[in-house]
Amino acid sequence: MTTTAGALADQLRHLLGPDRLLEGDLARNLYSHDGSIVGGDCGIVALPETTDEVAACMRMAHEAGVDVVPRGSGTGLTGGAVPLEGGLVISLARMRAMGEVDVANSCMWVQPGVLNLDVSTAIAHLGLHYAPDPSSQQACSIGGNVGTNAGGPHCLAYGVTVQHVLGVEMVRPDGQVVVLGGVAPDPPGYDLRGVVVGAEGTVGVVTRVLLRLTPLPPDVRTMLLDFLSVSDASAVVQAVIAAGVIPAALEMMDRNMAMAVEEFVHAGLPTDAAALLLVEVDGTPAEVETATAVVEHVAREHGVRTVRVAQDEEERALLWKARKTAFGAVARVKPSYYLHDCVVPRTRLVEIMEAIGEITEREGVMCLNVFHAGDGNLHPIIALDRSDPDETARAMSAGDQIVRACVAMGGTLSGEHGIGVEKRDYMPLVFDHDDLEAQACVRRAFDPDGRMNPDKVLPTGTRCGEVGLADTQVPEGTWI
Ligand SMILES: Cc1cc2nc3c(=O)[nH]c(=O)nc-3n(C[C@H](O)[C@H](O)[C@H](O)COP(=O)(O)OP(=O)(O)OC[C@H]3O[C@@H](n4cnc5c(N)ncnc54)[C@H](O)[C@@H]3O)c2cc1C
Repeated sequence: MTTTAGALADQLRHLLGPDRLLEGDLARNLYSHDGSIVGGDCGIVALPETTDEVAACMRMAHEAGVDVVPRGSGTGLTGGAVPLEGGLVISLARMRAMGEVDVANSCMWVQPGVLNLDVSTAIAHLGLHYAPDPSSQQACSIGGNVGTNAGGPHCLAYGVTVQHVLGVEMVRPDGQVVVLGGVAPDPPGYDLRGVVVGAEGTVGVVTRVLLRLTPLPPDVRTMLLDFLSVSDASAVVQAVIAAGVIPAALEMMDRNMAMAVEEFVHAGLPTDAAALLLVEVDGTPAEVETATAVVEHVAREHGVRTVRVAQDEEERALLWKARKTAFGAVARVKPSYYLHDCVVPRTRLVEIMEAIGEITEREGVMCLNVFHAGDGNLHPIIALDRSDPDETARAMSAGDQIVRACVAMGGTLSGEHGIGVEKRDYMPLVFDHDDLEAQACVRRAFDPDGRMNPDKVLPTGTRCGEVGLADTQVPEGTWI
């Protein structure tokens, strides 16, 4: 530890007490990872419990010139919460208080360490829920969801995190506390709340979030459809929406994934089908009846083999358990996985699924697909054993080709997991130099010293034009 870092640690220990400053090797190792395959180097970890404590930590780090990485539950899949070169990790995991529900305005302030699912559980008795539902919702935090602008199966109809965050309280890199947005919809001026959501911890530390709460639907129906070809299943996704029905959720699972999940969850998934669609429709009973009929009709036109409708809440929960534990089920196949989160326009689903099949077959790696098909948001999961360098290299190569194929089809790098480190160097595939510089300028407006989650999101060397000019030391008075 350098002298500066040592002095910062002393100050933080004084502020938080020895139990809330983690400095040992075990903790530093744990906090050097998240849910991705990215590994980093953690300096020290602070565990504040209030906004004032976060502000004090930030002021101390600012004065010491030390980098800061905010962290929620560490379930991120792009290395966003992984410190790369020491510095201070601020974990928000102990900030788990929920405020009063403002029933009249359907909203509630929560601290960032609150787990996603705990929000819906706490407000269900009021007939409300928090709509964005990442499959990791039992473990991921609201702060992390804000950081990544998280999505989830039900975001097809309800929208992703940014549509459900009315305001944020944030501590800026110098320790100043600001509130952006609020209960009033569409406040005048620049939408800085919108900048913070999805900023991946690069503009400040979010310390409270004002969540929009959504009424629970009066009726819900969940269906499992199975197909003998991936192309037929992909075509149904497009055709259902073209027929005017936006299901609450429209998820796809291929055979490899269905086999792994079935062995794990025993939900009665057909393991001989090429692809399964999990479709949920909701609304009034009449709307649900109509939407179900449309989905069944379209599916039959595309050769669906069976249509299983969940008969009760228990069966519905089992089908969702199968979907939401899918990533974990990959452990039955290989010890690790490399996952992408690219998006293609829904109309290109058939083509991209064929391309993924060809790429992974050519590279000789096993791919399991489970994804938010209705959004065109793919999750090709390449199962691998990282102790095998040859297999790891082939998995990386397949991943690279999949990303490029998605972009070539008019898609983009990430639908919900964010960019972090893992997708950072792909940014020039979708943004030109000027775009990247403009993004660097936005970041710099919040964090002039570049100490918030450095080396994330924007490729190394991307700089705000103004900084570049200052660094060249143009003589005073020169016109440029
Ligand atoms: C099994 C599994 C399933 C998943 N399914 C989904 C899914 O369906 N949809 C989806 O979107 N994601 C999914 N994810 C990815 C992950 O759960 C999400 O990205 C989630 O939003 C991360 O939350 P977290 O609390 O773990 O954040 P972390 O991983 O700790 O952090 C994520 C990012 O947010 C920043 N951050 C965290 N807290 C704050 C804060 N208070 N202020 C500022 N920045 C902050 C971090 O710096 C980092 O850049 C899944 C992951 C797993 C392991």
